[in-house]
Amino acid sequence: MLIMTTSGKNKILTGNLLRALVVTTIVMLAGCVQQPERINSHEMLNATLWQQTSAEYAGITNQVYRFARNSLDQALTDTTWTAALEQTGDYARLPPAVMLDIDETVLDNGPYEARIIKQFGQYSPATFAEWCRDERAPAVPGAKTFLDYAVKQDVAVFYYSARREKLRDCTIRNMRELGLPLPEDSRLLLSNGTSKSGYREMIARDYRILLLVGDNLEDFVDGSKSDPASRRELALQQAERWGRQWIILPNANYGHWEASIYNFDYQLPREQQLQLKLQHLQEE
Ligand SMILES: [Mg+2]
Repeated sequence: MLIMTTSGKNKILTGNLLRALVVTTIVMLAGCVQQPERINSHEMLNATLWQQTSAEYAGITNQVYRFARNSLDQALTDTTWTAALEQTGDYARLPPAVMLDIDETVLDNGPYEARIIKQFGQYSPATFAEWCRDERAPAVPGAKTFLDYAVKQDVAVFYYSARREKLRDCTIRNMRELGLPLPEDSRLLLSNGTSKSGYREMIARDYRILLLVGDNLEDFVDGSKSDPASRRELALQQAERWGRQWIILPNANYGHWEASIYNFDYQLPREQQLQLKLQHLQEE
């Protein structure tokens, strides 16, 4: 028969308590170790913060749109000037137009990207549509001043975007709320199976396209959906056009540049996409 004194019981109780404390502490520490790793490792964190908070981003976009205005003045006086490789034939007497992409060119989707980061998530057409329907995208700094200037010079402004047709109404409301010029709904060309190059060809039949403004290679030239080296080569082949007929905005968050790293395989698990990104880093 086991006879236990009061002091023996106390020792057992103290031992149990200590074990419970040790286990609780280990569980808490494990939680503490995992949490910061997850929060700090979203691949878009720096790019989005830069777009949303840096003075430098606002400086660059204003600078870009100022260059655009200077180019527009030059283009208006030079009837041989066209920005579209798709423009052929006798276009000298056609009325002038500019073509601008929308996302990260005219509208800033930083708040949507912030949502993705906070939820440790990824882009999806459904959540992007939800964000568009909020109609709360701010304008890219400098865009409105440039667009107002273009309209004042009697230049037709066309917007063309990969946004789907079902997002037309909310996109129009968002743009008009910001005071961006959009005199007719037909000046907004959305994704309906026509490529960006196809849209340039279409507008080039009736207008002389003075400038193309965008943040993705496909906003300027066909062939954007290829491997990183070919994309870079294509940009360099057209070196003379950048900052003149072709006006590009920075976008380090997303774009064909990013998808080309994983061969446009959007279904590839994120871990594998990240592995491919690491493999593309150049240390020499
Ligand atoms: Mg864009």
